[in-house]
Amino acid sequence: MYSPEDLIQLSALQHMVFCERQCALIHIEQTWSESGRTAEGRIMHEHVHDESRESRGDVRIDYGVSLRSLRLGLIGKADVVEFHHRLDGSWLPFPVEYKRGKPKADDCDKVQLCAQAICLEEMLSVAIPEGALFYGQTRHRLDVVFDEALRRETEETARLAHALIASGRTPPPVYEKRCESCSLMADCLPKTIQKRRSVKDYLKRILGEP
Ligand code: SF4
Repeated sequence: MYSPEDLIQLSALQHMVFCERQCALIHIEQTWSESGRTAEGRIMHEHVHDESRESRGDVRIDYGVSLRSLRLGLIGKADVVEFHHRLDGSWLPFPVEYKRGKPKADDCDKVQLCAQAICLEEMLSVAIPEGALFYGQTRHRLDVVFDEALRRETEETARLAHALIASGRTPPPVYEKRCESCSLMADCLPKTIQKRRSVKDYLKRILGEP
Protein backbone atom coordinates (compact mmCIF):
# COMPACT_ATOMS: atom_id res chain seq x y z
CA MET A 1 0.00 0.00 0.00
CA TYR A 2 1.22 3.47 -0.89
CA SER A 3 0.57 6.56 1.19
CA PRO A 4 -1.34 9.48 -0.42
CA GLU A 5 1.84 11.56 -0.82
CA ASP A 6 3.54 8.78 -2.82
CA LEU A 7 0.91 8.52 -5.56
CA ILE A 8 1.98 9.00 -9.18
CA GLN A 9 -0.15 10.08 -12.15
CA LEU A 10 -2.12 7.22 -13.66
CA SER A 11 -1.09 8.44 -17.13
CA ALA A 12 2.52 7.49 -16.25
CA LEU A 13 1.59 3.87 -16.94
CA GLN A 14 0.67 4.63 -20.54
CA HIS A 15 3.93 6.57 -21.00
CA MET A 16 5.89 3.75 -19.33
CA VAL A 17 4.55 1.10 -21.72
CA PHE A 18 5.20 3.36 -24.72
CA CYS A 19 8.76 4.31 -23.71
CA GLU A 20 10.55 4.43 -20.31
CA ARG A 21 12.43 7.54 -21.36
CA GLN A 22 9.20 9.32 -22.29
CA CYS A 23 7.81 8.43 -18.86
CA ALA A 24 10.92 9.86 -17.17
CA LEU A 25 10.98 13.02 -19.29
CA ILE A 26 7.36 13.77 -18.39
CA HIS A 27 7.14 12.56 -14.79
CA ILE A 28 10.69 13.27 -13.55
CA GLU A 29 11.84 16.19 -15.71
CA GLN A 30 8.34 17.69 -16.23
CA THR A 31 8.97 17.99 -19.98
CA TRP A 32 5.93 18.39 -22.15
CA SER A 33 5.77 19.47 -25.78
CA GLU A 34 2.42 20.33 -27.28
CA SER A 35 2.46 19.13 -30.86
CA GLY A 36 -0.55 19.32 -33.17
CA ARG A 37 -1.36 15.78 -32.18
CA THR A 38 -1.27 16.34 -28.41
CA ALA A 39 -3.23 19.61 -28.77
CA GLU A 40 -5.94 17.71 -30.65
CA GLY A 41 -5.92 15.03 -27.95
CA ARG A 42 -6.12 17.63 -25.19
CA ILE A 43 -9.05 19.42 -26.85
CA MET A 44 -10.81 16.06 -27.30
CA HIS A 45 -10.31 15.30 -23.58
CA GLU A 46 -11.46 18.79 -22.54
CA HIS A 47 -14.58 18.36 -24.65
CA VAL A 48 -15.21 14.97 -23.02
CA HIS A 49 -14.81 16.59 -19.58
CA ASP A 50 -17.18 19.48 -20.45
CA GLU A 51 -20.31 17.92 -19.01
CA SER A 52 -20.30 16.16 -15.67
CA ARG A 53 -23.21 13.71 -15.89
CA GLU A 54 -26.02 12.53 -18.16
CA SER A 55 -28.39 9.56 -18.39
CA ARG A 56 -29.35 7.48 -21.41
CA GLY A 57 -31.92 4.79 -20.61
CA ASP A 58 -30.33 2.23 -18.31
CA VAL A 59 -26.92 3.89 -18.53
CA ARG A 60 -25.74 6.81 -16.38
CA ILE A 61 -22.65 8.56 -17.73
CA ASP A 62 -20.20 10.46 -15.49
CA TYR A 63 -17.46 12.65 -17.06
CA GLY A 64 -14.06 13.56 -15.63
CA VAL A 65 -14.22 11.08 -12.73
CA SER A 66 -11.44 11.41 -10.12
CA LEU A 67 -9.59 8.15 -9.49
CA ARG A 68 -7.22 6.81 -6.87
CA SER A 69 -5.65 3.50 -5.91
CA LEU A 70 -3.49 3.22 -2.80
CA ARG A 71 -2.70 -0.39 -3.73
CA LEU A 72 -1.08 0.61 -7.06
CA GLY A 73 -0.12 4.11 -5.89
CA LEU A 74 -2.03 5.95 -8.62
CA ILE A 75 -4.07 9.13 -8.92
CA GLY A 76 -5.80 10.52 -12.02
CA LYS A 77 -9.04 11.02 -13.89
CA ALA A 78 -11.21 8.89 -16.15
CA ASP A 79 -12.63 10.61 -19.24
CA VAL A 80 -15.93 8.78 -18.92
CA VAL A 81 -17.36 6.16 -16.60
CA GLU A 82 -20.63 4.60 -17.71
CA PHE A 83 -22.74 3.01 -14.97
CA HIS A 84 -24.86 0.17 -16.35
CA HIS A 85 -28.04 -0.53 -14.40
CA ARG A 86 -28.29 -4.19 -13.41
CA LEU A 87 -31.34 -6.31 -12.72
CA ASP A 88 -30.54 -6.43 -8.98
CA GLY A 89 -30.76 -2.60 -8.90
CA SER A 90 -26.99 -2.02 -8.61
CA TRP A 91 -24.85 -0.03 -11.08
CA LEU A 92 -21.84 -1.62 -12.80
CA PRO A 93 -19.03 0.85 -13.67
CA PHE A 94 -17.66 0.65 -17.22
CA PRO A 95 -14.70 3.03 -17.89
CA VAL A 96 -14.34 4.54 -21.38
CA GLU A 97 -11.12 6.33 -22.41
CA TYR A 98 -11.03 8.66 -25.45
CA LYS A 99 -7.95 8.58 -27.68
CA ARG A 100 -7.23 10.86 -30.63
CA GLY A 101 -5.58 8.33 -32.95
CA LYS A 102 -6.15 4.69 -33.76
CA PRO A 103 -5.56 1.41 -31.89
CA LYS A 104 -1.86 0.90 -31.09
CA ALA A 105 0.44 -2.07 -31.55
CA ASP A 106 1.39 -2.11 -27.85
CA ASP A 107 -0.85 -2.33 -24.76
CA CYS A 108 -0.30 1.23 -23.50
CA ASP A 109 -3.95 2.33 -23.86
CA LYS A 110 -5.29 -0.95 -22.48
CA VAL A 111 -2.98 -0.73 -19.45
CA GLN A 112 -4.16 2.84 -18.75
CA LEU A 113 -7.81 1.77 -18.99
CA CYS A 114 -7.22 -1.29 -16.79
CA ALA A 115 -5.53 0.94 -14.19
CA GLN A 116 -8.66 3.12 -14.21
CA ALA A 117 -10.79 0.02 -13.60
CA ILE A 118 -8.55 -1.11 -10.72
CA CYS A 119 -8.89 2.37 -9.13
CA LEU A 120 -12.69 2.21 -9.47
CA GLU A 121 -12.74 -1.32 -8.03
CA GLU A 122 -10.79 -0.16 -4.98
CA MET A 123 -12.89 3.00 -4.56
CA LEU A 124 -16.31 1.38 -5.05
CA SER A 125 -15.61 -2.20 -3.81
CA VAL A 126 -16.96 -3.73 -7.00
CA ALA A 127 -15.51 -6.08 -9.65
CA ILE A 128 -15.27 -4.48 -13.10
CA PRO A 129 -14.89 -7.04 -15.90
CA GLU A 130 -14.55 -4.70 -18.90
CA GLY A 131 -14.37 -1.20 -20.34
CA ALA A 132 -13.77 0.42 -23.74
CA LEU A 133 -11.34 2.62 -25.68
CA PHE A 134 -12.78 5.10 -28.17
CA TYR A 135 -10.47 6.16 -31.03
CA GLY A 136 -11.20 9.53 -32.66
CA GLN A 137 -9.35 8.88 -35.92
CA THR A 138 -11.16 5.64 -36.70
CA ARG A 139 -14.38 6.52 -34.76
CA HIS A 140 -14.09 3.03 -33.37
CA ARG A 141 -14.99 1.76 -29.91
CA LEU A 142 -12.83 -1.15 -28.80
CA ASP A 143 -14.12 -3.24 -25.90
CA VAL A 144 -11.38 -4.30 -23.47
CA VAL A 145 -11.69 -7.27 -21.10
CA PHE A 146 -9.76 -6.86 -17.86
CA ASP A 147 -8.43 -10.41 -17.76
CA GLU A 148 -5.67 -11.79 -15.53
CA ALA A 149 -2.91 -11.13 -18.07
CA LEU A 150 -3.85 -7.45 -18.53
CA ARG A 151 -4.21 -6.95 -14.78
CA ARG A 152 -0.77 -8.49 -14.19
CA GLU A 153 0.76 -6.27 -16.89
CA THR A 154 -0.92 -3.20 -15.36
CA GLU A 155 0.29 -3.99 -11.84
CA GLU A 156 3.84 -4.67 -13.05
CA THR A 157 3.84 -1.43 -15.07
CA ALA A 158 2.71 0.52 -11.98
CA ARG A 159 5.53 -1.05 -9.96
CA LEU A 160 8.14 -0.20 -12.62
CA ALA A 161 6.84 3.36 -13.08
CA HIS A 162 7.10 3.96 -9.32
CA ALA A 163 10.66 2.59 -9.30
CA LEU A 164 11.68 4.72 -12.30
CA ILE A 165 10.19 7.95 -10.90
CA ALA A 166 11.65 7.28 -7.43
CA SER A 167 15.12 6.75 -8.97
CA GLY A 168 15.01 10.27 -10.47
CA ARG A 169 17.09 8.99 -13.38
CA THR A 170 16.09 9.41 -17.02
CA PRO A 171 17.11 6.45 -19.22
CA PRO A 172 19.10 7.26 -22.40
CA PRO A 173 17.22 7.32 -25.71
CA VAL A 174 17.00 4.34 -28.01
CA TYR A 175 15.87 5.39 -31.48
CA GLU A 176 13.04 3.15 -32.72
CA LYS A 177 10.02 3.39 -35.01
CA ARG A 178 7.88 4.59 -32.07
CA CYS A 179 10.00 7.77 -31.85
CA GLU A 180 8.39 9.03 -35.06
CA SER A 181 5.01 9.26 -33.32
CA CYS A 182 6.41 10.54 -30.01
CA SER A 183 5.35 14.04 -28.92
CA LEU A 184 8.72 14.48 -27.17
CA MET A 185 10.91 13.76 -30.20
CA ALA A 186 12.16 17.40 -30.32
CA ASP A 187 13.07 17.38 -26.61
CA CYS A 188 14.47 13.86 -26.55
CA LEU A 189 16.62 14.07 -29.71
CA PRO A 190 17.03 10.27 -29.88
CA LYS A 191 19.12 10.27 -33.09
CA THR A 192 21.52 13.05 -32.01
CA ILE A 193 22.10 11.82 -28.47
CA GLN A 194 22.50 8.24 -29.61
CA LYS A 195 25.04 9.36 -32.23
CA ARG A 196 26.97 11.33 -29.63
CA ARG A 197 27.01 8.36 -27.34
CA SER A 198 28.40 6.07 -30.03
CA VAL A 199 31.24 8.53 -30.73
CA LYS A 200 31.95 8.54 -26.98
CA ASP A 201 31.85 4.73 -26.91
CA TYR A 202 34.16 4.64 -29.93
CA LEU A 203 36.68 6.93 -28.21
CA LYS A 204 36.51 4.85 -25.05
CA ARG A 205 37.14 1.73 -27.08
CA ILE A 206 40.18 3.10 -28.91
CA LEU A 207 41.61 4.45 -25.65
CA GLY A 208 41.13 1.03 -24.09
CA GLU A 209 38.82 2.37 -21.37
CA PRO A 210 36.16 0.03 -19.92
S1 SF4 B 1 11.67 10.11 -28.98
FE1 SF4 B 1 11.84 7.87 -28.78
S2 SF4 B 1 13.36 7.48 -27.16
FE2 SF4 B 1 12.70 9.63 -27.04
S3 SF4 B 1 11.07 9.65 -25.52
FE3 SF4 B 1 10.11 9.47 -27.52
S4 SF4 B 1 9.88 7.27 -27.91
FE4 SF4 B 1 11.32 7.53 -26.21
